[in-house]
Amino acid sequence: MALSENCDVTALTQALQSADPDEQMQALDACLSALTDPTLWYWLIGFTVVCALVGALIGKYKNAVVRDTLLGLALGPIGWGISLLLPKATPKPLCRACGKPVDAGDRHCRHCGAAL
Ligand SMILES: [Zn+2]
Repeated sequence: MALSENCDVTALTQALQSADPDEQMQALDACLSALTDPTLWYWLIGFTVVCALVGALIGKYKNAVVRDTLLGLALGPIGWGISLLLPKATPKPLCRACGKPVDAGDRHCRHCGAAL
């Protein structure tokens, strides 16, 4: 069932102002069943997953998978736009001794202690 057929704001407002309690309950039930309709939730969950996946894909090219996945998850297509506008993150330099990532300003590797 479509949301607009059973639950629109005007109909709900009118029903709630009506003196007939049955009519009020019917209007509330229609809105409630529209909200608990599983199809609506499948679409919402599917859309959220797609948003996160596209965000992750953008993040892969921007070297910021976690950041862009979260942006896509939280903001959807707006998050993708923000991800695309943000500058590409530079990967951290690697320690020559152990190969683990270190911060650019570090004098010694925090993993193996080798001088950088
Ligand atoms: Zn190291």
